[in-house]
Amino acid sequence: MLHTYVELNKPKDWIDSIDFSDPAAAKAHVAREFDGWAPELTALITDGETDPVPRPIHALPVEHRWARVPGVTLLGDAAHLMIPSGEGANLAMFDGAELGKAIAANPDDIEAALTAYEKDLFPRSASEAVEAQGVLEVCLGPNAPQSLVDFFTNNQPAK
Ligand SMILES: Cc1cc2nc3c(=O)[nH]c(=O)nc-3n(C[C@H](O)[C@H](O)[C@H](O)COP(=O)(O)OP(=O)(O)OC[C@H]3O[C@@H](n4cnc5c(N)ncnc54)[C@H](O)[C@@H]3O)c2cc1C
Repeated sequence: MLHTYVELNKPKDWIDSIDFSDPAAAKAHVAREFDGWAPELTALITDGETDPVPRPIHALPVEHRWARVPGVTLLGDAAHLMIPSGEGANLAMFDGAELGKAIAANPDDIEAALTAYEKDLFPRSASEAVEAQGVLEVCLGPNAPQSLVDFFTNNQPAK
């Protein structure tokens, strides 16, 4: 079995405008984004035997943060859901380790532990979210796929 995945950088309105209850029309709509591509490739979209499934990517704002709430904090995607960049699972595990260390360092003062944890969490999350935007640009920006080829071959980004 061959599965085809199409990744597009489009606003949610664009996805919502497609009628996925009409699979053939939905596939044709998506395939129009690839006008001029080899028909052997666009056929992977239009001639599929299963119905297309939209999978929107959601992300929190880059500088997302919250006011301290006594006794509560967040980690992983709940704290910093971002565009996939190969770091989300690493960040989630790192958050967990950092939270554990903060609690261990403040065994009698959970508020001090959570404050210390969030102090480092916010800038770490923002920095990674900016990097994730960069990955999106490399993968789906105006110079893609050349920018992705350059990324993997360590060349300068295409101008
Ligand atoms: C397409 C895609 C590709 C990705 N590729 C990578 C990659 O290559 N490398 C990488 O590091 N990261 C990648 N990520 C990101 C990574 O998957 C996430 O950042 C990571 O899983 C976050 O872990 P988490 O524990 O915070 O959240 P999750 O893994 O989402 O875990 C949350 C859990 O809570 C459960 N849950 C939700 N609500 C409730 C409830 N009310 N009660 C009980 N349980 C509940 C959910 O079922 C889920 O099991 C990718 C993400 C996507 C979408």
